[in-house]
Amino acid sequence: MKITFLGTGTSQGIPMIGCQCGACKSLDYRDKRFRASILIETKTTTIAVDAGPDFRQQMLRAGTKKMDALLVTHEHKDHVAGLDDLRAFNYIQEKSMPIFSLQRVLDHIKVEFAYAFAEKRYPGVPQLDLFPIIENQKFEIGDIEIETIPVMHAKLPILGFRFGDFTYITDANFLSESAINQIKGSKVLVLNALQKEPHISHFTLDQAVEMAIKIGVPKVYFTHMSHKLGPQKEVEKELPNGIHFSYDGLEVNL
Ligand SMILES: [Zn+2]
Ligand SMILES: [Zn+2]
Ligand SMILES: [Zn+2]
Repeated sequence: MKITFLGTGTSQGIPMIGCQCGACKSLDYRDKRFRASILIETKTTTIAVDAGPDFRQQMLRAGTKKMDALLVTHEHKDHVAGLDDLRAFNYIQEKSMPIFSLQRVLDHIKVEFAYAFAEKRYPGVPQLDLFPIIENQKFEIGDIEIETIPVMHAKLPILGFRFGDFTYITDANFLSESAINQIKGSKVLVLNALQKEPHISHFTLDQAVEMAIKIGVPKVYFTHMSHKLGPQKEVEKELPNGIHFSYDGLEVNL
């Protein structure tokens, strides 16, 4: 299984429009962060988690030629704004795109992309098949086994996903003991770490480090970073062994 980080930035991306801070002006390619998303590929199956506003550029950059399904963690714009661009796969694959998420998230998608679900559809609109999944559900897409992990994003219950030895958690600021137990035993964990200052709905860097150590997964990559965290080259020195910042384009093989 190959995991590609399609985007590792928070909702504004890095650089943020108009900002002159160190991370936004950095020339390090690792400080150019699209909105958070990952691609998971086996020989026969390709799925993505979340499709934010950078989805088209992410697909072009990764050279993705097929997509079997999209999993959505939650309904915030930085995770769903790119859904319209799934129609490229509709055209190429000549079938609709399955989208898996909580019923609440699917209901939001139906409102945000109402034209794609209208009775009389304009020609060429995306064809999206919505499949509700629930917390702690195990299911398969092709040869990829998936388990949903309920996590809290301030007061919003959202989904993390475990794929065999790999777990992806974004936009969380609280993990229950049962969620932690679901993650334990993974070989690689992706966890969100926004910034150093406290935030109402995301783990801070310290909280993410503390959680990563508590869960005890041997290799941890942080994602969904804000420009406020600073340039990667500087801030990565502060991370304990086994914990890294991800960056766009990073590939992990499992
Ligand atoms: Zn987000
Ligand atoms: Zn900035
Ligand atoms: Zn969010």
